[in-house]
Amino acid sequence: MAPKQLSARHSPEAGALASGKEYPVIATRDVVVFPKMTASVVFKNPRSHMAIRRALGQNRLAVLLLRKEKIGPSPEPGNLYSVGTLVKILESHKIGDRAIILIVEGKARVIIEKFIKLDPYFEARVKEISEVNKLTIEGEAFMYNIEEHFKKCVALGMPIPMETLSIVFSRPLPSEKLDLIAFSLELRPAQKQQILETFNLKERLKIINEFIGRKLEVLQVAKKIEQKTVKELGKMQREAILHEQLKAIQKELGMGEQADIRELRKKIKEVRMPAENEKIAKKELDRLASLPSFSPEISYIRAYLDWLTSLPWSKKSETKLNIARSRKILDEDHYGLEDVKKRMLEYIAVCKLAKKIKGPILCFVGPPGTGKTSVGKSIARALGRKFVRMSLGGIRDEAEIRGHRRTYVGALPGRIIQGVKTAGTKNPVFMLDEIDKVGADFRGDPSAALLEALDPEQNYAFSDHYIEIPFDLSDVMFITTANILDPVPPALKDRMEVVEFPGYTEEEKFHIARKFLIPKLIASHGLSDHKFKITDEAIRDIIRGYTREAGVRELERELARICRRVARKITEKASEAKKLQVIGPKDLHAYLGPIKFRLVLAEKKDEVGVATGLAWTQVGGEILFIEATKMPGKGRLILTGHLGEVMKESAQAAFSYIRSRAQKLGIKKDFYKNLDLHVHVPAGAIPKDGPSAGIAMAVTLTSCLAARPTRREIGMTGEVTLRGKVLEIGGVKEKVLAAHRAGLKKVILPWDNKKDLEKIPAKVTKDLKLLFVKDMDEVLKIALKK
Ligand code: ADP
Repeated sequence: MAPKQLSARHSPEAGALASGKEYPVIATRDVVVFPKMTASVVFKNPRSHMAIRRALGQNRLAVLLLRKEKIGPSPEPGNLYSVGTLVKILESHKIGDRAIILIVEGKARVIIEKFIKLDPYFEARVKEISEVNKLTIEGEAFMYNIEEHFKKCVALGMPIPMETLSIVFSRPLPSEKLDLIAFSLELRPAQKQQILETFNLKERLKIINEFIGRKLEVLQVAKKIEQKTVKELGKMQREAILHEQLKAIQKELGMGEQADIRELRKKIKEVRMPAENEKIAKKELDRLASLPSFSPEISYIRAYLDWLTSLPWSKKSETKLNIARSRKILDEDHYGLEDVKKRMLEYIAVCKLAKKIKGPILCFVGPPGTGKTSVGKSIARALGRKFVRMSLGGIRDEAEIRGHRRTYVGALPGRIIQGVKTAGTKNPVFMLDEIDKVGADFRGDPSAALLEALDPEQNYAFSDHYIEIPFDLSDVMFITTANILDPVPPALKDRMEVVEFPGYTEEEKFHIARKFLIPKLIASHGLSDHKFKITDEAIRDIIRGYTREAGVRELERELARICRRVARKITEKASEAKKLQVIGPKDLHAYLGPIKFRLVLAEKKDEVGVATGLAWTQVGGEILFIEATKMPGKGRLILTGHLGEVMKESAQAAFSYIRSRAQKLGIKKDFYKNLDLHVHVPAGAIPKDGPSAGIAMAVTLTSCLAARPTRREIGMTGEVTLRGKVLEIGGVKEKVLAAHRAGLKKVILPWDNKKDLEKIPAKVTKDLKLLFVKDMDEVLKIALKK
């Protein structure tokens, strides 16, 4: 900013002018000293040195004048400002031969009246300006504003020496205060000169107000920029920097490694892995400790070490091998299931003798709700071990079993290792559900990985892709479960010992409900025996009318529904809470809705073209009706009802058998010339397959063609050959139980299935007549009416 014309600021208030005195004049390049201020100035010009010497020789007073241009020819009166400062030289030091450093204190503003000497140094006559320190209201407002701005500047980090601060706020005269503030603002020399030349206090206030306002803005913007930069540095980076600093500080203080690393080191020791593994874990830990804290690898290694240290490498439950106690526990938890219990006790006995569970993997096979899981839990309880359960249903990827390699983002160990971690011991009872629903595809064969995990010959060093180091699974007691055995991969089937859970008779279900399900539900619904009771008749009616299943799942669900409603009733009405709630057969409609299944078979008329077959499905045995009808056509056989290939073929076989035997069966020899036959198996949405409906198909077709009604109370199952032989089928027990459930009176079975008779409960064989046959002639004789 160019200095303004001097005359403009010589207003009346500018202060009285003291009359002319003469002083040596020293030119400065960039220093402007205000009155009352101390400053150090360096002089190199020989002319200045002379003036200094002169001043020191007199009264140490001199006048400092700023050069108009910083660089250029040596100073002349013409290129110096004409307003300067009278100063007292406090100290003077020589630096080398060419420079002198002065410490000066400002005394007063002066105007040069006349240069009276130019050589060998400048000397001038000057007028001293005395300050007038009266402030108007407006002046005070300006002063207030300047002070506030000044405080803010200081708060924003403007560098100010402490003593300057204390002087500014110790209420000096306004002119002094203004000079001090101006001096602190780091202004350019020309700006300082402008302030020096402005004698009028009000004018000076205005100028400084402008300067300080500017300064404040600059500082504020600078702060914003700084904050933004810091923000942009990003949280992560800042944390990383802090971490680094922390590390450095800890190292400096001799605190050794970080607390979390120490913690991990301790854990590695505590979990007692095999020595080889521990070495590997420690190596990983050292790598972790050596990585800079912003390395992306850190989280992977840490997750890995967390997994390693959370596995039960050496933690075991103490196994209890007490046959009597085990028997008691199994009986406590389950009704019936004699074969299963016997098998389990044998197993425990072998373990006791052999000291280690080594033997075939158990596979519990049976329809849902037949107690597989619950027996597994009881065994764990009997052995005093932890129980974990994991479903394998739908697994198609080997990595689900054996884990993903650590190099993948989000990699995790497979389900086996996860299960072991959940158990927290290395010898749990580990139940793998739905092994029949494991599939294989391009992602690898999970059953191969499963085999490696389950096979006692190999699993002492099971290698999970994620964990990498071998884990000993040989103490785990694996139990697999399946609804049916057929889909289980043969390699697995080979290693497993099957324990069958065939499903319950109505009588068994009744006892299970009374002794086990209802007490369990009463407890879990917060009811009690003296508040709530279901009569025996009601239980039987529920089993018959509301469930049709091999297990007791639906039964449990229906009973739970009753419990829920009762719980609601007694919490809603205080009067009900006092009464004993008895649920009898008549109440079922209100609690469970209309009856779902009716036993109406026996009542139904015997009809032409329908036979009662028996099927074996995922959910146990079931009865199914096979219907046939004839219509004009050309001897085609139409098959509907979502039938599988094998079932279709067996229908064809039955049809061919009938054609070849037509006359003997009382059917027109060339019936097929002008007839089409349609065979349908109702519940068309459910897929059905297998050869065991063969004899039922043949019976239906014969009945239809010969117009002889079938006996509805007879169920039948068996494969039929072209020559009319009846072949052995599977799932006899399930099918017979289903027939019993459905209220049939007789069941036709292949002769070769006689061996399965012993599996069927006596109660069932008492109610149900089992007829074993060798060929179709026998079947037709039994099943068709004359
Ligand atoms: P699954 O695993 O075979 O599908 P669950 O073991 O889950 O069947 O059994 C279903 C319910 O039936 C459980 O509450 C179970 O306790 C009960 N249950 C099954 N069989 C019996 C039984 N023989 N005695 C007592 N309760 C049983």
